[in-house]
Order: sequence, then C-alpha cells, then structure tokens
Amino acid sequence: MIAVSSPLASGTPPAEGGGSAGRTVFGVVDVGGTKILAGLATASEILATQRLSTQALRGPDDIVDRIAGALTQLAGAPGLPRLSAVGLSVPGPLDRRLGVVHFTPNLLWEHYPVAAELSRRLGGIPVRIDDDANCAAAGEAWQGAGRGFAHLVVLTIGTGIGGAVIIDGVLVHGHQDLAGEIGHMAIVPDGPPCACGHSGCLEAVASGNAIGRLGAALLTQNESPALSRLAREGGGEVHADLVFRAAAAGDPACQALLDKAAGHLGAAIGSLVQVLNPQAVVLGGGVMCPENAGRLLPAIRAQMNRHLFEIQRGAVQLLRGELGDSAGLWGALQLVAPGSPAAAQRAGNAASRG
Ligand SMILES: [Zn+2]
Repeated sequence: MIAVSSPLASGTPPAEGGGSAGRTVFGVVDVGGTKILAGLATASEILATQRLSTQALRGPDDIVDRIAGALTQLAGAPGLPRLSAVGLSVPGPLDRRLGVVHFTPNLLWEHYPVAAELSRRLGGIPVRIDDDANCAAAGEAWQGAGRGFAHLVVLTIGTGIGGAVIIDGVLVHGHQDLAGEIGHMAIVPDGPPCACGHSGCLEAVASGNAIGRLGAALLTQNESPALSRLAREGGGEVHADLVFRAAAAGDPACQALLDKAAGHLGAAIGSLVQVLNPQAVVLGGGVMCPENAGRLLPAIRAQMNRHLFEIQRGAVQLLRGELGDSAGLWGALQLVAPGSPAAAQRAGNAASRG
C-alpha cells in the first residue's frame, strides 16, 4: 500500500518508529517543474513524503540543498535507520551512468551532476537517477496499472507528454538513454512548434499545454462562448482544465478540439502498438484524471483501432494510470530497492558480464 497522504500538499511525517527499525530505508525523490516530492521508503513501502516548491530560478544547487534537507528531516524521525541510497526522478535528457542531467528547459539545468551533488550532501551515499517519464512508467509497471505485463508502453500526459517502453520486462533506454521520447514523435508534419524546438510533435498537438493553447485560439476567433465565460470567471487565462469543463458543458468547439487531440494520441498509440506489440498501453499524468479520461479514452481507442490489424485490436489493453503523483516515487524507489525489476535487471547485467 502507498502510505502517502491525499492530497500530498502538506506531506506526511513518518509514523513513530516507522515500522522500519532494522530494515533498509531509501530516499525517493521526484523533481518536477513546479513541485518536488521527497519521500522515505523501504524496499516495498513509501513511508512518508514531503512536498517542496521547485523554484527553478534559484538554480540547481539550491534545489539539491532543499532536497537533501527534506530527506535528512524525514530520515531523522525516531527509530529509523540511516538512509542507505536515494533514487531520483528528474527531467531529462540525462546520463544515468554519470548521474548528469544534460539540460532541462523547465529547470534551467545544464550538464548538472545532480547525483554527485546530492550524494555529497548526504554523506556520500549512492544516488541513482533516471528521467521522470521512465520513472513514472517503471512505477506503474511495478506497482500500478502495468503490473504483470512484460510488454508495456506508458504515456504520461500532463503539461508535456512523456513516454517509456518496457519490452520483456526491461525498461528500454536505448543507445544514449533517450529512448521512449513518445511526446516528440512527429505526428503532424510542419505542424505547430514544440517546446523541444521541432514542430508537429505529439506534445505540440495533444499535451495539456497544447490543449490550453488551442483553447486560447478558440477565444481569439470567438468560437467558444462557454470557454469565454469560464476564462472570464477564472481571470482570463485558458488552461486545459477549462477546455475540458467547457466540453463537458456541451460546447461543440471544445468537444471538437478534444476529439482532435484524442485522435492524435490514438494515431500515435496505434503506431506504437504496430512497432512494439505491447500487451497494454498505460496513460497517466494530470490530463488523464478520471473525469478527463472518460472524455478522451473512447476517442483514443477508436483512432488507435483504425491503425491496427483485426488480430491486434482485442489483444492490447488501453488503461489509465493508477498511481497519480506517486508513480514517479515508486519509479525512483525501483532504482535503488533490492527486489525491484531494475534491481533484477542490474543483477542480470552483472551476471551476463561474468
Ligand atoms: Zn517536440
């Protein structure tokens, strides 16, 4: 069971003694563009979490200082053993082996050795990193909607779109740790610009940001009275949430906008199913909250099926993520916890190297 509070806003202190005396305790951290979740875990349970504001403009050293402070505070509860390692989910692209983040547009990090910096602040304990989409996927595969599937594709649809691929139970990292960038698959040639610098990426036509941007364009063209009213009431800015609300209220322009975004997702997923032949595709992230998923999933499934052979259609499950905000923490935990899929993979790699 997940021992995080709901909502996670104020975090949860470890229970007295934590039930973990004598066991190994790990730090788990999920760094996002606006918030950071730092937690304490055993190999099979998240014991406590603390939520921090990212404050990216203060720079990476400040962020790592505060993460180290939060972990030290959580691990300082009575009856807990010393932290033995930390698993860290961070935006990529990154080099897992070196523990270096190459760059992150949202956090303004450039070639930042985050693993070494955090380790130094925590007395030299091991710190392992992976990118946030891979961690969310590994979390869902280990403890969430992807449990029991050896062949899995995971999309995290929020502000942007993250992705990850698991084949034969192994998370695919590729030659440069850059595999699984599903959000940057080319979906609309010469389409709208993407935050990555390219154009027509899936993220540019179907992410939360894209839905908000397309909604704002509807307002400019005066095509959605319902969205205009909601935006006025909310202070003027158009977010994806408002587009979903206007569509739920029956606004045809917003419904068409969401159908189109779902169609792009369905086409991308259909292509992925053709390439990878997974048992399931898991869709997580803020855009896929239960209310929105009810709106999007039928259209995604219909478009996906148009790209599949008859024999594939009933053989791939389309599932909503189960872990929400804690998917990244579970993914961070599997980087360091013995008994996790990643630990088994590390052991296998070591054995095959002889
Ligand atoms: Zn892109």
